[in-house]
Amino acid sequence: MSMIVNSNKHLVFTIPLLLILAVAQPLVSQTSSRPDISLSALVKDLSVQVFWDPLSQIAVLQKNGHLVNFRADDGLVLLDYREAIALDPPVMKNGVLMVTAAFKDRLENFFSAVPPPVSYRVGAILIDPGHGGKDPGAIGTAKINGKNVPIQEKDVVLVVARDLYARLHKAWPDKKILLTRSDDRYISLEDRVDIANSVKLDEHEAILYVSIHANAAFNKKSTGFEVWYLSPDYRRTVIDKSGSESAEILPILNSMMEEEFTTESILIAKSIMDGLDAQIGTQSPNRGLKEESWFVVRNARMPSVLIELGFVSNEKEAALLADTDYLKKCSMGIYNGLFSFISHFEQSRGFTIGQ
Ligand SMILES: [Zn+2]
Repeated sequence: MSMIVNSNKHLVFTIPLLLILAVAQPLVSQTSSRPDISLSALVKDLSVQVFWDPLSQIAVLQKNGHLVNFRADDGLVLLDYREAIALDPPVMKNGVLMVTAAFKDRLENFFSAVPPPVSYRVGAILIDPGHGGKDPGAIGTAKINGKNVPIQEKDVVLVVARDLYARLHKAWPDKKILLTRSDDRYISLEDRVDIANSVKLDEHEAILYVSIHANAAFNKKSTGFEVWYLSPDYRRTVIDKSGSESAEILPILNSMMEEEFTTESILIAKSIMDGLDAQIGTQSPNRGLKEESWFVVRNARMPSVLIELGFVSNEKEAALLADTDYLKKCSMGIYNGLFSFISHFEQSRGFTIGQ
C-alpha cells in the first residue's frame, strides 16, 4: 500500500520538455456552431489516431508527427505541447464527446501544417520499489504447500523492480535506467522525490517514473492489480485560480506542463495495464486505471505512474506474489507496457518528422 499524504504544496514545474511557450491567443472561431461532430466522426474525417480516456475525459489525437490534447468541457487545446489555443469547449452528449465545426477546422489546419523539427526521447526511467528497511509496507500470509509463509510488500516489489531494471537496461543501454533502491533499505517519500527530480537529462529528454507497490485490504477477498496515474483534477486548480487563461503566463506554463505529464501519465498507465493484463490477467483481476494524488507520484516532475501488483492480504494472491515466476510475469507485463509506450512516444515525436 502507498501512503497518501495531503500536501498542498504549490509546485513549479521546470523541466526541459516544454521549451517554447506560445501564450494562448484566444482564438474566437468565425464559423462557431453547435457541437454536432462526434469524436469518432472527427477521427474518421481527419484520419488521425486517437487515444480517449473516458475516466479523465481526455482525448489525444495524433497525425503527421503532431499531437493535439483536449478534454471535455475545456476550451484549452494543446498543440504539440508547445502552444495552447482556446476553442469551443468539446462537450459530452450521451456519453459521446462532441465538437463544433470550427473546432474541427482548426485541428484540420493544424494537422496539415509542417510539424515542428523538435524531437524528444525518453532519456531515463526511474523505477521506485515502494517501502524498504524498517518499513515493510503491506504484510500478509501466503499458504504454500500447507505452510503459512509471511509475505511483505517491500520484498515483493524489490524482486519485480530489479527484474524490470534488468529488462529495461538490456533493451535500452543508451537510456539511464535507475532504481531508487536496489536492496532492503528505508527511503523516505521525500528522498524518493528528490532522487526523481535530480536525474540529469539532456535537452528534449523526458524521464518516466514508475513506482511499484503491492496492496492490502481489510476485506481479505480483495484481489487484483491496479495502475494509478496523476490526477488531472488536482492540476486543473492551478489554471482555474489564475482567473483569465491568458492573463498570467506562469499559471499557463504550469498548467501546460502539468497537462503534458497528466496525459503522458495516463498513456503510460494504460500501456502498463494492458501489459500486465496480458501477462497475469488470467490469474489476477484487472482492477483498471485509477487516478489519485499519491505523494510520490504527484511531486515527481515527470510522467509518472504507480502500480499495485496485487493484494498480499488475500491468501491466494499472496501465494502468487511469493512465487518468483509470477513476479517475473509482473515485471514482463510492466516492461511490455513501457516498451510499447516509449516506442510510440519516440516515434511520434522522434527525428523523422518535419524534414
Ligand atoms: Zn505500498
